[in-house]
Amino acid sequence: MNISVIGAGQMGNGIAHVFAQSGHPVTLIDLAQAGLDKGLATIGKNLDRQVAKGTITEEQKVATLGNISTSTDLASGVKSAGLVVEAATENVDLKLKIFRDLDANAPAGCILATNTSSISITRIAAATKRPAQVIGMHFMNPVPVMKLVEVIRGYDTSDAVTKTVVDLSTAIGKVPVAVNDYAGFVANRILMPMINEAIQTLFQGVGGVAEIDTIMKLGMAHPMGPLQLADFIGLDTCLAIMRVLHEGLGEAKYAPCPLLVQMVTAGKLGVKSGEGFYVYTAGSKDLVVAPGLKR
Ligand code: NAD
Repeated sequence: MNISVIGAGQMGNGIAHVFAQSGHPVTLIDLAQAGLDKGLATIGKNLDRQVAKGTITEEQKVATLGNISTSTDLASGVKSAGLVVEAATENVDLKLKIFRDLDANAPAGCILATNTSSISITRIAAATKRPAQVIGMHFMNPVPVMKLVEVIRGYDTSDAVTKTVVDLSTAIGKVPVAVNDYAGFVANRILMPMINEAIQTLFQGVGGVAEIDTIMKLGMAHPMGPLQLADFIGLDTCLAIMRVLHEGLGEAKYAPCPLLVQMVTAGKLGVKSGEGFYVYTAGSKDLVVAPGLKR
C-alpha cells in the first residue's frame, strides 16, 4: 500500500521510516525542502544505528531509503495513497485545513489517519466528507523504537477502517491498541498531567530539575524523568496537549503550568530547539542541566 506522511518532523520522519522499512512506498510531505532534507538525514542516521546494532543489514537500509520519496506539494503527494498519516504540528486549525485538503486530493478509498497527541478525531473527521475513513494512529516517540500504536476510533470511524489500521500496524511490527475518542485518549490523558505536575513542582521550588527527574527515575523505575521526557516530546507539543485536555475535560487541574507557557513563549522547546529543562550540546542529545532553572 502507498503511504503518504504529512510532516517530516520528529514523528513524521519516524513514521515514514517504519513504513518504508516494511516495504511500503512512502511519500514524505512537508512545507519546504529544507524540512524534508532534515527528516531524510534523521532517517539515514537512525538506519545507520540499526545497521551498527545488527538489527538490519546495509541492503535493508538502502532499500528503506529507496522506498521514500519527498514532496512539498500535498495534492500531488497524496494522489496515489492508500493511507495518509498526518504528523504536522499540534494545532487544531492547521490540522482541520490539512484534512480538508486531504479530502479534496486523496483517492476516494484512501484512509486518512492523524498522529495527533490529543485533538479530537471526531472533530478532524468532521472537516472531511469521509468521516468513516478518518482515524487516529498515535505512534510513540521515537517511532522506530517504540512498539505501541494507540489507534483511536472517532465517532464515525468504521469497523473496517479500524481493522485495516490495526492489521497494518501489526504488519509493520507495532502493537496496536484501539481506544475511543476523548480528549487526550489514553496515553496523554495520563502522561501529560504527570509532566505538567513535574513542571509545577519545579515552578514551586519543591525540587530542581535534577532532583525531580532523579526521584521519578529511581523511585518509579521510569526510564527517564518527566522533565527530560518533556524536552524529548517538545514543550510546545506538551503545552498544546495540556490546552486540549483543559478545554476538552473542563477541569482546573488540567491548566498548563505558567512556567511551561513561559518557556514555550521564550522559544525553549526542548531537544528540537537545543534548550528546554536541559541544554543540549551541538548536534547531540547529551544533557546539561540549565543553570538558570536549578533551584
Ligand atoms: P515537529 O515540530 O517535530 O514536526 C512538525 C512538522 O510538521 C514540521 O516539520 C513542520 O514543518 C510540518 N508542518 C507544519 N505544517 C505543515 C503543513 N501544512 N504541511 C506539511 N507539513 C507541515 O512535531 P512532532 O513532534 O513531529 O509532532 C507532530 C505531530 O505528532 C503532532 O500532532 C504531535 O502532537 C504528534 N505527536 C508527537 C509526539 C512527540 O513525542 N513529539 C508523540 C506522539 C505524537
